[in-house]
Amino acid sequence: MALLDKFNALRQASAAVISDIGLLPFGVGFDAILSPTEAVWRGRRVVMLGSNNYLGMTHDPDCVDTARRALDDWGRGSTGARPASGTFSLHRALEQDIAAFFGVDHAMLFTTGYQANLGIIGTLCGHGDVVVLDRDSHASIYDGARLSGATVRRFQHNDIGSLRQILESLGPDRASNCLVAVESLYSMLGDLAPLTEIAAICREHGSLLLVDEAHSLGVFGPSGAGLVKAEGLMDSVDFLVGTFSKSLGTIGGFCATRHDIEALRVAARPYLFSASAPPSVIEGARTALARMEAMDAERARLLANADRLRHGLAALGLRVTAGTGPIVAVMLDNLVETTCFWRDLLEEGVYANCMVPPATPGGVFLIRCSVSASHDDSQLAEVLAAFGRALERRRSVSDAAATVAR
Ligand code: PMP
Repeated sequence: MALLDKFNALRQASAAVISDIGLLPFGVGFDAILSPTEAVWRGRRVVMLGSNNYLGMTHDPDCVDTARRALDDWGRGSTGARPASGTFSLHRALEQDIAAFFGVDHAMLFTTGYQANLGIIGTLCGHGDVVVLDRDSHASIYDGARLSGATVRRFQHNDIGSLRQILESLGPDRASNCLVAVESLYSMLGDLAPLTEIAAICREHGSLLLVDEAHSLGVFGPSGAGLVKAEGLMDSVDFLVGTFSKSLGTIGGFCATRHDIEALRVAARPYLFSASAPPSVIEGARTALARMEAMDAERARLLANADRLRHGLAALGLRVTAGTGPIVAVMLDNLVETTCFWRDLLEEGVYANCMVPPATPGGVFLIRCSVSASHDDSQLAEVLAAFGRALERRRSVSDAAATVAR
């Protein structure tokens, strides 16, 4: 049973968290989703502050309508991978929409954003190549690099000097045949990549650049096209990867590029060997992409909501990471403090994400909040009041501990 025994340490760690705080942060299940910003947990309403529903698009009536119609017209699933029976006119239409949206010639859909990184990075690169990653990259970027069999080099997070050093150390031949992969808005700390500088260094060394816009699509830039477009870098970015599971409110991934990647349709294993997304998802995503372009008011509201939360939490005396987008992370000191605070917050009616090492960069402990344009003023006030009460609980516990120690 050695295969199972190696999970004993994880089992014990989970059991210890449950015995300390009464529930497991990664095991929360909701009884119902009431709206983009409210859910039911253990029979009570909670404000959702932990989803990536940046534009509230999960419940957009137009998207729901088109998804429902596709369900009626096409059935529930494709039951096949794209190269076999899983390509419908809808999949091709969405690929054309994405290519047109980004002004490039090629777009390739994947069933999830995770698979998009796996399929693009893992297939473009191979043994003998080099993938250079920002150290804080998402697991899907790491896993794509691993799948490729290429040599993986990591540069310090958002550190241009560190990137430059690695590319220079590779020498001109290898540097000009390597893939640099970064995110534009990092999902843990909510900070932005210095894309303009990164693109300039890649150009200087002839390296290809992949940018994962998972969290910035729909949030930044003209028509919500993301940071690459906002910074005028479409010509400098070779592969733009994105997901439908955040601002677009459904599931799916894509790569948009000016390079001819059509051959990857018969080479990328995550594309070749996994069923394509169901028609309802594809049609919902198409409508969401079109809706997203016209959502400037929601984007302004989203960023204003994030600012309000950021300032409100700082005013309560919490340490909030610097950031400009919808991810607002509060830093705490250790595992016990973070899990207790997270539980208190949930009991006070707010679900945020509890993020602890090894999932976090630099071993930080975070309560990670994701704001939505759909949060209204009263919900934000409710959230800040709940944080205030959770802080009070923490203070009374430490006061009691200090009294006992005396
Ligand atoms: N890239 C990044 C940067 C992400 O944060 C995520 C999801 N958390 C993904 C890719 C994967 O997206 P999906 O949920 O569509 O698999």
